[in-house]
Amino acid sequence: MFHERGWILKRSELSSERIALIDIHSEESWTYGELRNRILRWASFFYDKGYEKGERVAVYSPNCPELFAVLFACEQLGLLYVPLNWRLSAVELQGLLDDCEPALVLYHEEFKQFVHKLEIKEAVSLSVIQTVENSLVWSSVSIGTCSDPWMIIYTGGTTGVPKGVVLSHEAVNWNALNTITSWGLSEKDTTINYMPLFHTGGLNALGIPLLMAGGTVAIGHQFDPEEALIATGKYEATISLFVPTMYQMMIQTDYFKHFNFPSMDTFLSGGAPCPETVYRAFREKNLRFKEGYGMTEAGPNNFFIRPDDAATKNGSVGKSMLFNEIKVLDAEGNPCTRGEIGELFLKGPHMFSYYWNKPGETADALHDGWLRTGDLAKIDEDGDTYIVGRKKDMIISGGENVYPQEVEQCLITFDGIREAAVVGQRDEVWGEKVIAFVSLQDESATTDSIMAHCKKTLASYKIPKEIIVLPELPKTHVGKIDKNELVKLN
Ligand code: ATP
Ligand code: MG
Repeated sequence: MFHERGWILKRSELSSERIALIDIHSEESWTYGELRNRILRWASFFYDKGYEKGERVAVYSPNCPELFAVLFACEQLGLLYVPLNWRLSAVELQGLLDDCEPALVLYHEEFKQFVHKLEIKEAVSLSVIQTVENSLVWSSVSIGTCSDPWMIIYTGGTTGVPKGVVLSHEAVNWNALNTITSWGLSEKDTTINYMPLFHTGGLNALGIPLLMAGGTVAIGHQFDPEEALIATGKYEATISLFVPTMYQMMIQTDYFKHFNFPSMDTFLSGGAPCPETVYRAFREKNLRFKEGYGMTEAGPNNFFIRPDDAATKNGSVGKSMLFNEIKVLDAEGNPCTRGEIGELFLKGPHMFSYYWNKPGETADALHDGWLRTGDLAKIDEDGDTYIVGRKKDMIISGGENVYPQEVEQCLITFDGIREAAVVGQRDEVWGEKVIAFVSLQDESATTDSIMAHCKKTLASYKIPKEIIVLPELPKTHVGKIDKNELVKLN
């Protein structure tokens, strides 16, 4: 049902003079016409090199527009695009390369030295494109069908070694359609994207959907809170996605305090639970702020919340989008009643196909088209969904379930606390006990005052047995708080 040569070439014809991509760092911009030209040149390069359908082309580069050209060139030839996380150590990266075995790694000049230390079949600088012309003879190129894989995106690695999520052309396109229709994206929209393009949050959450809609994606290299906000004003952004850690840094800046972002329709948060202090800071400035839930395997987008509901239902991600289904099941596999916490399952044409080289994990995750997310959720009387946290993070203390996210929200609303994370620790008496890690904004909070706040707000079994203050909480490579590291610290 999708355009034979992929929709991007058609979009490039329809919107050829409009700006598709901006590099915030160099201020360079590409129209859709220029993007098309670049895609065809990359496709010519791959074709001349003789790469065949199904082979992997990996990229190792900081965020830049060129990555979209490579991605869509891969689409044209049925190659699998594999963006690599450049924050990984050499050993971790070699692990991913051994897993996906790319025929080619395209690297950014910045990383030249590093790439040459790795065992790779062939490595070529992204700058090679400067000398390549479009010489493609279309009739000779056989592209994939819709259900063929288009990309392998590695998961965030929050719970262990990142898994290679295989997304088909169809899955990527349905996620984009779902996002455009549910979130109302159009060619009038511009996003500021500092989310890494090796992660689904940078690529599929807004980037690809917005290009399908004919909008503009302004790409930042490395996140800087002030730079991201200045770019929001300068490029008159309308919708952007950041992870909560980025928002926490943004609301501390002078620019945030003094600028009103008149162009902005919606700030979206996703990838991890967002502290209430962040929503409040945005609402106080009359800015729309929405919590979103995303998962690499599931598109990543699955939910939509109306602006009015977002303003009154803090923390809700809303209802399922137009082309997907959700359900919440109890431990016996029965549907939960309204308000009851259970495991979240997702279904739709945007689901992943399988984990690369991991048939066991694939079989555990997918049943009759339903994805078992490993996340806990509840649905309220109005049918709005709340994400409660990861199932494996739930603490059972003295036989009672403690959901770390609830305790973290209690901690983070206390003045003087900057970040909070709650984990379980084995305990002879309680089975597990609740331990809180915090980093502080200033000297106003002490462990005694924090404990008193918890006692006032939380049921006794949820109150942390210990509060440990760290200068900063450890983060994963995509900026989520790394609870595995915290557990090791304890
Ligand atoms: P890995 O699968 O390798 O452990 P990961 O699960 O962090 O890493 P992603 O696919 O990037 O990899 O993240 C998806 C997960 O992020 C979800 O399964 C969920 O646990 C968490 N998440 C996403 N959005 C939210 C949200 N709004 N609130 C709470 N958690 C969220
Ligand atoms: Mg995961």
